Amino acid sequence: MASFDPWAATLERLDDAAKLAGLDSDIHRLLRTPRRVLEVSVPVRMDDGRVEVFIGWRVHHDTTRGPAKGGIRFHPQLDAREVAALAANMTFKTAVVNIPFGGGKGGVRCDPGRFSAGELERLTRRYATEISPILGPDRDVPAPDVNTDGRVMAWLMDTLSMMWGGGANPGAVTGKPLSIGGTRSHAGATASGVLSCIRAAFTEMDMSFVGARAVLQGFGKVGGPLAFLLASGGMRVIGVSDVGGAVYNPGGLDPSALAGHVDRAGTVAGFDAGDPIAPDDLWELECELVVPAALEGAVDEHAASRLGGRVIVEAANAPTTLEADAVLDRRDIVVVPDILANAGGVTVSYFEWAQSRQGFAWEEGLVANRLRASMDTAFTSVWARADALGVSLRRAAYVIAVERVAEAIAARGLFP
Ligand code: GLU
Repeated sequence: MASFDPWAATLERLDDAAKLAGLDSDIHRLLRTPRRVLEVSVPVRMDDGRVEVFIGWRVHHDTTRGPAKGGIRFHPQLDAREVAALAANMTFKTAVVNIPFGGGKGGVRCDPGRFSAGELERLTRRYATEISPILGPDRDVPAPDVNTDGRVMAWLMDTLSMMWGGGANPGAVTGKPLSIGGTRSHAGATASGVLSCIRAAFTEMDMSFVGARAVLQGFGKVGGPLAFLLASGGMRVIGVSDVGGAVYNPGGLDPSALAGHVDRAGTVAGFDAGDPIAPDDLWELECELVVPAALEGAVDEHAASRLGGRVIVEAANAPTTLEADAVLDRRDIVVVPDILANAGGVTVSYFEWAQSRQGFAWEEGLVANRLRASMDTAFTSVWARADALGVSLRRAAYVIAVERVAEAIAARGLFP
């Protein structure tokens, strides 16, 4: 994992799509450079009285189709190249599902697991203040990502609203609690979108959803709700891993019992209704569906060559390395790429932003129906393009994305 360079991988995928799509070389060059990279220091008074200084970023990769959109993550290994890669991923993701946003991402290099609630709040508010010059409902709208949630978004929204004056500014942030203008169904949105892609892929491949075996890497904000959705739809979730370990039960793990165990123990490891296995061995389990729902670079060449599943649906951002992609292609393993598969989160963020700006809350059913329709449309067009070009779903999704962004860049023209 140490040698994994997410920015280099993003550029390679962009270059490939540019060639396949016959992209204008000026536009290609534009997309190879992030529009704006802001690095900030985030000093925080810790509970013991000392001041610690963290480093944070906010990157806008492209803002031609609309405000930058993308999450904020708190992670001890975060760096500028990773944030830039994730921001570019957001440009392509919002384009694949055709919502009116560009791509952004941000975060702070820190280990939030060791913070008190007070420390986390002070870090969030100071970071929000430092990046506020480039935020706003028409400029850049953050959302939750790895290790951030509705509570962090509420602090962010409050800090920005207080700084800017003029009252509550709900359109500045998505993934907010319902009480301050959040939307119904944001929490499970990414998992619901992943589920739509799984169902569509299984239908295209003439595979039965009911009775199929699934393996999940990650049991957090996405993997957790997804395990419920899969099991309640009739799949058997036979293996789950997280940072603490992995469990296996060929008869199927019970997601609610597993969630109860994780609440108590903080990890899936030690769950007694399954057998412990090495997290790395998860990839080898014979199954129909594999869902990486954790961090970048999880499926490397080694995992890809041993993979026991037929379909990978990428719930995480950038979980598959370039080398692994080549192996999976050779092995005829179908990969539904991140920029399509996990776009349910940002799609419901779009619905939330629209509701916040309109001051009009949608019913739960409307959010769910529009999300399903949007995911199905995107999946169908990516599948058809992959078929037409004779390439993987990932390459087809990138082609669709760069074409949409390029069309917008050409329409607006170059300033001045
Ligand atoms: N963090 C999510 C993602 O990577 C959601 C971003 C958003 O809603 O802006 O897609």
